[in-house]
Amino acid sequence: MGAGDVIGAGSLSGFHARSIADREGFWGELAALIDWQAPFERVLDYSRPPFTRWFVGGRTNLCHNAVDRHLAARRDQPALIYVSTETDDERVYSFGELHREVMRMAAIMRELGVRRGDRVLIYMPMIPEATFAMLACARIGAIHSVVFGGFASHSLASRIDDASPVLVVSADAGSRAGKVVPYKPLLDAAIDLARNRPANVLMVDRGLVPFERVAARDRDYAQLRERHLDAEVPVEWLESNEISYTLYTSGTTGVPKGVQRDVGGYAVALAASMKYIFCGNAGETYFSTSDIGWVVGHSYIVYGPLIAGMGTIMYEGTPLRPDAGILWKLVEKYRVTVMFSAPTAIRVLKKQDPSWLTRYDLSSLRTLFLAGEPLDEPTARWIGEALGKPIVDNYWQTETGWPILTVAHGVEKTPTRLGSPGMPMYGYDVRLLHEQTGEEVGTNEKGVVAIMPPLPPGCMQTVWGDDERFVKTYFSTIPGRLAYSTFDWGIRDEDGYYFILGRTDDVINVAGHRLGTREIEESLSSHPAVAECAVVGVADALKGQVAMAFVVLKDPSRAAADDARMALEGELMATVDKQLGAVARPSRVHFVTLLPKTRSGKVLRRSIQAICEARDPGDLTTIEDPGALEQLRRAVGLQA
Ligand code: ATP
Ligand code: MG
Repeated sequence: MGAGDVIGAGSLSGFHARSIADREGFWGELAALIDWQAPFERVLDYSRPPFTRWFVGGRTNLCHNAVDRHLAARRDQPALIYVSTETDDERVYSFGELHREVMRMAAIMRELGVRRGDRVLIYMPMIPEATFAMLACARIGAIHSVVFGGFASHSLASRIDDASPVLVVSADAGSRAGKVVPYKPLLDAAIDLARNRPANVLMVDRGLVPFERVAARDRDYAQLRERHLDAEVPVEWLESNEISYTLYTSGTTGVPKGVQRDVGGYAVALAASMKYIFCGNAGETYFSTSDIGWVVGHSYIVYGPLIAGMGTIMYEGTPLRPDAGILWKLVEKYRVTVMFSAPTAIRVLKKQDPSWLTRYDLSSLRTLFLAGEPLDEPTARWIGEALGKPIVDNYWQTETGWPILTVAHGVEKTPTRLGSPGMPMYGYDVRLLHEQTGEEVGTNEKGVVAIMPPLPPGCMQTVWGDDERFVKTYFSTIPGRLAYSTFDWGIRDEDGYYFILGRTDDVINVAGHRLGTREIEESLSSHPAVAECAVVGVADALKGQVAMAFVVLKDPSRAAADDARMALEGELMATVDKQLGAVARPSRVHFVTLLPKTRSGKVLRRSIQAICEARDPGDLTTIEDPGALEQLRRAVGLQA
């Protein structure tokens, strides 16, 4: 057995059972997967439920584990592989070079007055300097708060106020699908709006768009970097429960929450997930198509792969430019072994010529992991067959930091089941609970996906600056129990596989039948003409609610003529009738070419529902393309 091997590996159920029955023994062993400068005194402190402290008294550092500790064995191996199809840039930083750049960035931060425990807000596009900034914060014990680049001033301002950063790191602009998106004017406006203004703004000038500098506040990264080329900045050893970062949820439900995470528990959780779930090995390449503004970017672009000693691809671009083969071209070029993307990206590819999937040598690729939204069976089957690779759905949240439900092929090669993300991961005591009674539901019965505390390492410690909100939001909604609610609705089959049916507030109640939006969406998606769809419940005087469907076709011209459109609507309704019964049949199927999504690719069902009910769609700061709402309004006959 090597470091971090745990008794019980070989059987997922045994592994999982031990992780719950003997939390201290289990995680105490897994803690050996990372470096500790000083050992912990206690594995778990759960004396103040639901607050959980892992590896109490242990001293470690995320940057050390991600960078420094690999220098001896892999100084010249790729660590950060930067690819931008927006600016046609490609740069590979070895672990040695990454180490240098992080120390330079850390020295700049120090010069700008950043101390241990201070917040640094990172508002940046997908450029290497963003990763340097995250790792530099980790190195000196500053708390980073990455805000998705391109968020408008208003949402940025509220995050600045919440974090009260001493420093903001930003850039002149991002670029999306070939279009330059200036960041600086948004940032300036946000700082003007904010009450807690940062003393300094560190600007990375990509030369994409000229910008104004605010004297005495804005500092130039390139200039400061020159001054610190040879900087040696030692890592600051942090107690395991000090704060590594805060990050907002994607905002699909309209209320982003500031998730706060620790140092040691997070490092151990990521190292373990790289070994047991993602099965990535040091020296290989990991490719996640996410963005550092999201939790997947934190865990599986930056920290996870680097902690595992893997090279990680940081990709600025879309799946379609310069053509629909770009992701696979990168897999071939960098010999990617583990890939992570989102169902939304795959649905985008589904509308393209499938031959793009077979033009490149994908022999290095072992597994494609997908997360973020329910992965419907047809999409999973389509991509799995086209690539000839295993597709692994994994279900989790910003709050948890790493997968709750999936398969762990590093423990046991349990088969995957289409439509299901899998089973509870080690450390997560997952239950399906009845919304009203709090009792556990039976096999094949729907319930709220809940986790019995203590939450495993890596999960959120609290809501930044608001312990009360943490308890109230997450632990107070299930009657009679102190249980963490995911606010997702799920079901478990007789073999123990879970299925996510949608968010608890997306459940449709048709004449007393409770239906997950996901079930109806899954059924519609099984029709070969459908690329993607969204179903919402709309108030109905007679039935309480009826389902309303919005469908994006692979070939939109199929719905151009009135009679063809009506025929297709009928076919889709019949599909649902046959699979789920008439009670689930959407009252209407509308055809659109775009669904309203968050910038993280999640369908904003709440806003769709509001529009269908002629209500205000609410806070839309996280929406990707407001044009989608115009289409919806037209589809349901409400002019904007
Ligand atoms: P907010 O909490 O602000 O509304 P959000 O929930 O969209 O935002 P995230 O934490 O990024 O923010 O998303 C987690 C949610 O995404 C899960 O709770 C679940 O609803 C959905 N999700 C993630 N992965 C999967 C998956 N594999 N299958 C089904 N749903 C998933
Ligand atoms: Mg959420």
